[in-house]
Amino acid sequence: MEAFPQRLRAVLEERRAAGLYRQCQTLESGQGPVVRVDGRAYLNFCSNDYLGLASHPKVIASLRAAAAVWGVGSGASHLVCGHSAPHRALEEALAEYTGRPRALLFSSGYAANTGILQALLQAGDTVLQDRLNHASLLDGGLHSGARLRRFAHNDCDDLARKLQQSAGPTLVAVDGVFSMDGDSAPLASIARLCHQHQAWLMVDDAHGLGVTGATGAGSVEAAGLGSGDVPVLMATLGKALGTSGAFVAGDELLIEALIQSTRNYIYTTAMPPALAAASLTALGLLREEAWRRDQLAALVDQFRRGAADLGLPLMGSDSAIQPLVVGDAARAVQLSQQLRERGILISAIRPPTVPAGTSRLRVTLSAAHTAEQVERLLTALSEVWPRA
Ligand SMILES: *Cc1c(COP(=O)(O)O)cnc(C)c1O
Repeated sequence: MEAFPQRLRAVLEERRAAGLYRQCQTLESGQGPVVRVDGRAYLNFCSNDYLGLASHPKVIASLRAAAAVWGVGSGASHLVCGHSAPHRALEEALAEYTGRPRALLFSSGYAANTGILQALLQAGDTVLQDRLNHASLLDGGLHSGARLRRFAHNDCDDLARKLQQSAGPTLVAVDGVFSMDGDSAPLASIARLCHQHQAWLMVDDAHGLGVTGATGAGSVEAAGLGSGDVPVLMATLGKALGTSGAFVAGDELLIEALIQSTRNYIYTTAMPPALAAASLTALGLLREEAWRRDQLAALVDQFRRGAADLGLPLMGSDSAIQPLVVGDAARAVQLSQQLRERGILISAIRPPTVPAGTSRLRVTLSAAHTAEQVERLLTALSEVWPRA
């Protein structure tokens, strides 16, 4: 059988020829504003650890202490015997934080989104998604049996048209903050349209939870909306919370129904209980230490002002995600390499993660950065960026 090796070799050759070949680099240190790779220290501007909680001493201590009590593996899926007191405590805290009666844990955001959409939707339904939604939402919609239609990015007129044409029960799903552009969905307008057309709204707030909103509860809070407007709220634990996993929050009916029928919840091992305990500690820190959000906002502001002075192509984002669009994939890789030579780590994001011709450096900031480190980033960018 030569068919599979032939196909695999063709994939590699095609990726190499197009300058789209992907490879992992191996970190030789923990996550933080400075990381080690190949024996050298780099300023890290590509992590989603927006609040600097991934290596917070209290979160680490909590993981360690919980592992001593609860062990490492959860032993089984939630419904068999893998659901323990730390899982329950975390679910209750996440429900309370997001202002909903219940929350349900998943082992990853990818599993949560694909699982939720497949459980909620069936043939005859319509799911409307922003074109720039995260791959996990789009994949969930594609495999749900429902009719998937994408609307133009953040375009409420296009969404209204598609709601008008939609057949059967309709779910609208959007990212709260878009992962590759850093801009926010116009949630208040989208919620209004959903009410008008009796559609349900699901928000994936992976990049908003912990960062935006008066108490950090995310994009839904920032838009002044409640669970009546956004019946399905999903977010991840691996970004601002600095741990790993995901959850969906909603009312009793939603959560009980998801427990019965979400395959990605039923047929998978529960996250380690110690990870749930560490996530609960991270949630506490996130709520108590509002200065982390203020520090992040100040650094975002500093970066945007500095980048604008340098004439860099900023996007319309006020989040921790500050992409600089380069266009050509090979050029983006080259800029990333030149920054690396100056001790700065920013990965080039290329198709198919972003549309062709919009390859970019995805700069991300964290409350763990200092103003001086952001200055160093701006200096390095001014040295490598091509003059107009
Ligand atoms: C990261 C991310 C996910 C996936 O979450 P994981 O826990 O990393 O699987 C889903 N949606 C969005 C918008 C994300 O940024």
